[in-house]
Amino acid sequence: MKVCIHRGTKQIGGLCIELEHQGARLVLDLGLPLDADAALPDLLPPVAGCRDADASLLGVVVSHPHQDHYGLARRLPASTPLVLGAAAERIIAAAAPFVPGGVVLRAARHLRDGVPLEIGPFRVTPYLVDHSAYDAYALLVEAGGRRLFYSGDLRAHGRKAALFERLLARAPRGVDALLLEGSSIGRRPAEDRVPTEADLETALAALAQATSGPVLVGASAQNIDRVVTVFRAARRTGRLLVIDLYAAAILAATGNPNIPQSHWDGVRLFVPAWQRRAIKRQRLFDLLERHARRRVFPEDLAGLAPNAMVLFRASMARDWEEANGLAGARLVWSQWGGYLNEPAAAGLVAWCNRLSLPFDHLHTSGHAAVADLQRLAAALTAKRVVPIHSFETARYAEFFSKVARHNDGEWWSL
Ligand SMILES: [Zn+2]
Ligand SMILES: [Zn+2]
Repeated sequence: MKVCIHRGTKQIGGLCIELEHQGARLVLDLGLPLDADAALPDLLPPVAGCRDADASLLGVVVSHPHQDHYGLARRLPASTPLVLGAAAERIIAAAAPFVPGGVVLRAARHLRDGVPLEIGPFRVTPYLVDHSAYDAYALLVEAGGRRLFYSGDLRAHGRKAALFERLLARAPRGVDALLLEGSSIGRRPAEDRVPTEADLETALAALAQATSGPVLVGASAQNIDRVVTVFRAARRTGRLLVIDLYAAAILAATGNPNIPQSHWDGVRLFVPAWQRRAIKRQRLFDLLERHARRRVFPEDLAGLAPNAMVLFRASMARDWEEANGLAGARLVWSQWGGYLNEPAAAGLVAWCNRLSLPFDHLHTSGHAAVADLQRLAAALTAKRVVPIHSFETARYAEFFSKVARHNDGEWWSL
């Protein structure tokens, strides 16, 4: 089996790995580089079958529904088979009407935890992992008697931490190469304890307890673990979780009855003005109808506010302000701090300052701490550890043995 990491040996974002065996090829992930515009044609890696149909490209396997792993898949010729999780496929489609550049990707086959897929000479075994994206997988690829294990993005401190322990317990031993993400390297001291989602829940509940008005939580609706954290903190403090139609659609797309849904007792749907316009323009009336059972309207917000925990975005600020719903409010930013330098989030900070709303930051990473990555590498007893999906791939040798660094675009053999 031959391997080429087209993008990802020195950066997070735009990941693409091409595998070749006996003339057949398989691609793992086809991501959008961070801060890139998907419309730019030269972003596509030089993989035959990405621009024009090529029968030797047997498929593109998407590890999980984050743009840095699937964002360029929209550019594939229709004949190139896509493989991803069923819930991931639904979530990407559910987001499409609400996000810039939204896309519907059609999977030819689905990844299922522990169920091997035979794709030509490749056997791909997905392992469901704990990550901030739902339906995320690490992938074991076997061909020609060689085994490559790709970590995808993962962590051990989320709501599905048990999946990480299960991965350690059932991981294949002695793989020929481990392609290991290292997003957290350099982002914080390796010895720091990483907060868990349960820690965040406790901290958020304490903030809510000390707040007389609505608690506005700036979290991504696609970070399902975090939505569960926010919902649980709301329950613990007698508050209702207020979501918009985008979040309602994403939560339904998980297909998981244990994830909070728009019809649940403790949940309310509020559709901000821009979404009401989007519903009319895109004729999303059926979608609204499906989620309208516990809908509240602008005139309800002021009354609801003291008991509300809102899954909040900058695009809702005006709705809450105009409804006089912000007395005693507080904003909790619950995403990566780096986003606060980007226009939408920076606008939110300025808005809080203008209205003198307290601003807190409660977040934990979607990526494993170094100590957990070390446990994974030890469990897999890989013959080599290949750095990927990190800005600090030069530092892997500080933390792992048998590190083999490669460059973007370089072919190497297992
Ligand atoms: Zn990623
Ligand atoms: Zn990810």
